[in-house]
Amino acid sequence: MKTLLWLQGLTCNGNTQSLLNAENPSFYELFSKIKLLFHPSISYRESFPLVLKKIKEEKIRLDILVVEGAVTADKNFCRIGNLSVPEVLDILSEKAQFIIAVGNCASYGNIPALFSKNPDVKGLQFRFTEKGGYFSPQFRTKSGYPVINITGCPIHPAWFTQTVLAIVENRKILLDKYNRPKELFMYLPHDGCIRNEYFEWKVESEEFGHKEGCLFYNLGCRGPMTHAPCNKILWNRISSKTRAGSPCFGCTEFDFPLRENYFETKKNIGIPEEVPLGVSKRAYITISGVAKTLKNERLLKKLEDTE
Ligand code: SF4
Repeated sequence: MKTLLWLQGLTCNGNTQSLLNAENPSFYELFSKIKLLFHPSISYRESFPLVLKKIKEEKIRLDILVVEGAVTADKNFCRIGNLSVPEVLDILSEKAQFIIAVGNCASYGNIPALFSKNPDVKGLQFRFTEKGGYFSPQFRTKSGYPVINITGCPIHPAWFTQTVLAIVENRKILLDKYNRPKELFMYLPHDGCIRNEYFEWKVESEEFGHKEGCLFYNLGCRGPMTHAPCNKILWNRISSKTRAGSPCFGCTEFDFPLRENYFETKKNIGIPEEVPLGVSKRAYITISGVAKTLKNERLLKKLEDTE
């Protein structure tokens, strides 16, 4: 049975909370296939120093090291037992077959890196978009993989369980340039959004929570520029932000939460400053202009007015 150890740095615990909501497999089903060696909030069997000693002495094997939260090389900061998190990381990174960074802070440093204003607060292998995390860009775990980043604030539990099960089943994990599993992060929240027809015909939503309209033009939706399968793997299996009438605010990207004005679309002479990924501004203006002119009468009606 593969083993997993969960470590926390500078974190709000959000990814742990998310993991507890896992379904299919659930938290308990997952950890009936994998041995959980330690988790700071959940552990019950053995104390961390004892587990660490056994791993160090190779009495137990560490297959998957999971890190939640940003890290810093400051040895007085973020301690676990008698050791600092960086001291623990140095020991465990030499033993782990795989390392997974869960959440934006562990992946890119994000909120702690931004608000501490300390350049030493980082993600595991990145600091925002730079390959300058706690570990060098060349760092590889024993399996040959770099740190696998599962981004999000928080992550969807299925993104984590699917990645862990791919490791357990010895499946190859293809990574994008930010070391995220492509199978999950090649999608955008725009893919599968039930407002796509409104987007195509440029029918705008006027208010948060409305069932009609797209949230891109006025309300700041980042669905077309964010890498995350939020409308493919639904939250609680039933919904997503855009389905509930809230714009996607790009919480899986490295620039979250650097941006301002989350709930409005920055425009220049009526044209969004950022257009959907893969589309030139010129193409976007042409297509949206045509759609607006042609009008789809069905979509212009409120749902309650339709027959
Ligand atoms: S609400 Fe957002 S994700 Fe949905 S279609 Fe509009 S831009 Fe795309």
